[in-house]
Amino acid sequence: SSFEELGLPKPINDGLLAMNFKKPSKIQEKALPLMISNPPRNMIAQSQSGTGKTAAFVLTVLSRVDFTKPTQPQALLLAPSRELARQIQGVVQTIGQFCENLIVEAAVPGAISRETGVRASVVAGTPGTVMDLIRRRQFDVTQLKVLVIDEADNMLDQQGLGDQCLRVKSLLPKTIQILLFSATFPDKVMTYAQKFAPNANEIKL
Ligand code: AMP
Repeated sequence: SSFEELGLPKPINDGLLAMNFKKPSKIQEKALPLMISNPPRNMIAQSQSGTGKTAAFVLTVLSRVDFTKPTQPQALLLAPSRELARQIQGVVQTIGQFCENLIVEAAVPGAISRETGVRASVVAGTPGTVMDLIRRRQFDVTQLKVLVIDEADNMLDQQGLGDQCLRVKSLLPKTIQILLFSATFPDKVMTYAQKFAPNANEIKL
């Protein structure tokens, strides 16, 4: 199978070429068709790091962004640490390098201007900072179309983080597409995940 078969917009395919990604990895091959199809469906995907999971959800995010609204937040990617949020921001930027008017910001402590607030189509952040920005009305979440939770085992298992994820989700549009990615889904986390992302397709590598 090939990336072309997915019918992604040309600038995204150009980004894949530039990164020298020639064909989809296993997780991408399995998950991408389900994640980019319409109407959008939630996804719970179990996949180790190193399998190409980041590109899988980044491609989905990019496929859902309307690039004519560069400063309107449309996708939110949550990670358990600033470092990982920054890393995800970098991957979105790299794969999206030929997407004109793509703006990606990291919602991590100190990164978002208090004057302007979030002015990006794609936001990668940590739950606490994202919550603060929403509360201060510095992050317009009304047009978000997709929510990604990376390292969902970490995010949904820890008392504090799990609560923050739930609180953030409760403020997002009810129809948002939710994608949960994790290396493992222990039973307890899976039960929580299925409530967090109702009626999800489930994929295990
Ligand atoms: P991840 O699982 O997100 O940690 O990604 C592991 C590594 O695989 C990263 O260095 C990616 O750049 C690389 N990668 C992801 N997708 C592909 C692909 N389709 N072809 C080649 N390399 C890839």
